[in-house]
Amino acid sequence: MARISCVEPGQLMLDACAMPVPVHGEALVRIRRVGICGTDYHIVRGTQPYLTYPRVPGHELAGEIVAAGECSEWRAGMPVCIMPYHSCDTCIACRQGKPNCCTAISVLGVHKDGGLAEYLAIDERYLIAADGLSLDEIAMVEFLAIGRHAVCRSGTVAGERVLIVGAGPIGMATAFFAARSGAEVTVLDGNADRVRLCVDRLGAYRGEVLNTDTADRLAALTDGDFFDCVFDATGNAGAIEAGFAYVAHGGRYVLVSIVTADIRFSDPEFHKREMSVIGSRNATHQDFADVIEVLRARAFPLDAVVSHKLPFADVPEAIWRLMEPGTGVIKALVVL
Ligand SMILES: [Zn+2]
Ligand SMILES: [Zn+2]
Repeated sequence: MARISCVEPGQLMLDACAMPVPVHGEALVRIRRVGICGTDYHIVRGTQPYLTYPRVPGHELAGEIVAAGECSEWRAGMPVCIMPYHSCDTCIACRQGKPNCCTAISVLGVHKDGGLAEYLAIDERYLIAADGLSLDEIAMVEFLAIGRHAVCRSGTVAGERVLIVGAGPIGMATAFFAARSGAEVTVLDGNADRVRLCVDRLGAYRGEVLNTDTADRLAALTDGDFFDCVFDATGNAGAIEAGFAYVAHGGRYVLVSIVTADIRFSDPEFHKREMSVIGSRNATHQDFADVIEVLRARAFPLDAVVSHKLPFADVPEAIWRLMEPGTGVIKALVVL
């Protein structure tokens, strides 16, 4: 079968390898769509902190069952969403029902080979039924689940003022679920097109384009109070540090994106607000299930987010174009 590996930073290669052979408890899945995200671009550039090479990327996966064990509930042809975060079941986080931050987590396409391949053998515990969804929709579930998880972590309730900083796919997903929870959502990004999309299509109340007077504008919008909850989805250490100032007294700051840096903040500024700083990592089965229900109800505007589609064999060449600024990529989908 064919697969695409990142052999070393800067080098993607399409080659052939043996078909995976499922062991007991695994199903053989034909991969049909792979969403490309920031993690994959980091892998190609060599800036992903948890990775060794060579690696097959791909963790936003839509597939179809080819074969499963005799006693399995899965049948050939069933569409499936694949949960890419594989947990140990025994560590402190797993014992507390938080496998998304398992101490020994292994993520498909990061810690082990992922779905830029024609077939994968997957432990059936990580397969989620996705009947009623198109293959394109199934490939959206993972990044939407990350946004949904962040909103759950935040405890956002209806009527709160929420600020989302960063309008990439994760910020968009977070804005969408925060708006669904009834919050008054403001989206801040340097890219005016993305900000407008969040307002026009994803339920945000207003958008702000990053500028030198951003802090003053955010103050004016909120009568000097700032926001009950601020979400960072920038992947930028400077932006994360700046975001502390946008949190209202008594408010929360949810860090969704991850950076390979130390984050500094002023302790007096933090303390006087009695601010809660909350990490949000990956997503849970419940997040995936909720996103699938939202997609089944056709409540999410897929066409607003899927900006590019490309054939599998084109990925080693095309990925460089997708990473260029100005190509307008929001979410690129690989079709197999
Ligand atoms: Zn991703
Ligand atoms: Zn664990």
